[in-house]
Amino acid sequence: MDPLFSPPLHRQRHQFVIDFVKRNKPQKVVDLGCSECSLLKKLKFHREIELLAGVDINGAIVKKKMHGLAPLSADYLQPSYDQLRIELYQGSVTQKDVRLRGFDLVTSIELIEHLTLDDVERFSEVVFGYMTPAAVIVSTPNSEFNPLLPVLAGFRHSDHKFEWTRAEFQSWALKVCLEYGYEVEFTGVGQAPPGQQERVGFCSQIGVFHRLGGRVSRNMFNGDDAEDVFSYTQLYSINYPSLRDNNILRRVLASEVLYWAEKLKRRWMEEKTGERDDGYTLSQTEGGAEECVRASEQCMGMEEKQTGVCGGEMKHPVKQCGRGVAEVQEVEDEELFWTDRKAQLESCRLHRCVSVPLAVLWSCCPKVSALSGSLNNLRHLLMDEPNVKLNQDGSAVLLQEQEEEEDNNVLEDSGYGEASQCSHSAEQEGGWEKND
Ligand code: SAM
Repeated sequence: MDPLFSPPLHRQRHQFVIDFVKRNKPQKVVDLGCSECSLLKKLKFHREIELLAGVDINGAIVKKKMHGLAPLSADYLQPSYDQLRIELYQGSVTQKDVRLRGFDLVTSIELIEHLTLDDVERFSEVVFGYMTPAAVIVSTPNSEFNPLLPVLAGFRHSDHKFEWTRAEFQSWALKVCLEYGYEVEFTGVGQAPPGQQERVGFCSQIGVFHRLGGRVSRNMFNGDDAEDVFSYTQLYSINYPSLRDNNILRRVLASEVLYWAEKLKRRWMEEKTGERDDGYTLSQTEGGAEECVRASEQCMGMEEKQTGVCGGEMKHPVKQCGRGVAEVQEVEDEELFWTDRKAQLESCRLHRCVSVPLAVLWSCCPKVSALSGSLNNLRHLLMDEPNVKLNQDGSAVLLQEQEEEEDNNVLEDSGYGEASQCSHSAEQEGGWEKND
């Protein structure tokens, strides 16, 4: 049937829902009769949705493709502030389950015609009387269109219990509105050939319901609602990584901090050993931070010329970065870099260390400042982060000053190594698993 339409009819139905979501921005959406989760897979990219659920009576069909709803590597590598939870259930739309209450949008795409008429009544009670969502989209075949469909004898699918005319669909929908306090608009997808639209209507007819007034009372459903009912079986649930989760924020921040701290350290070491000429080899991905690295370097270079030693004599280097000066002034006596030959810090007793002040990282690296919000926050978030070593007063990141050959190992062991290589390592892991 679909080749009659371009785009195919099932895509037009899903696009109808997506357009509704774009306009109305619901935060909680459940798809009833979700089948292989194809609509859910499209909806998960609409990040205003915070809870996305699917229900189908056929658990096997849901399980077949449900893992396609899992977060992608990019969701873990570059989590956003958006939150998304996905839940899938096996259960019947004729039964209530408390986990489906309080949704903004319920979709029922080509589902009701698979129910007996008695079950359609139960569906109405469950969806409109018990779940009481703010909006409901119901699509179902329009039987008036059937004569235009080639080689169709009887219903469009062997499992259909009925196919309604426009009048039958509208009569059911208006009754639901009266009974449960909704209003409805009728529309559809799948245009008839020119000149026939008015006579036969859309191939798929759609009712868009909106709840009238405020919240509907909880106990409209027939029967005892005193206890919450859990009649569905949960098949799948996943929380997408989000920067609103403090553990994830800390991990991302730590890897960003280590990345830039390592870069700054390397610049300084190149300066110190005289290996660096004026041509920069740093990648240009983070413009602001890059400039600041340069500013810091210039600053180091200047100080070095004056003192002849790269270390304890350098003061206020960050002022040249042009951002966050106020924050930086709080740590006026901070040194940009110093080597710990005297082994002042316990953790660095056996090694020389390089100290990179958090103030420098905060004011020079836009992503670090955006993620942490303030220098104080940055310090607090890093304090509990095992991959980042801070000095005693928590004002600077300590990195070991390694010999050239050992440097590579440091990078691999650090969050920076992980961050910069993670897309490769994800692929490599897959490869290793295969080889195993
Ligand atoms: N909504 C899907 C889409 O747009 O891609 C297609 C739906 S498919 C035509 C109908 C689905 O309804 C089937 O997956 C079927 O298992 C499910 N179904 C039938 N009766 C049901 C019931 N009582 N409760 C929940 N799901 C039901």
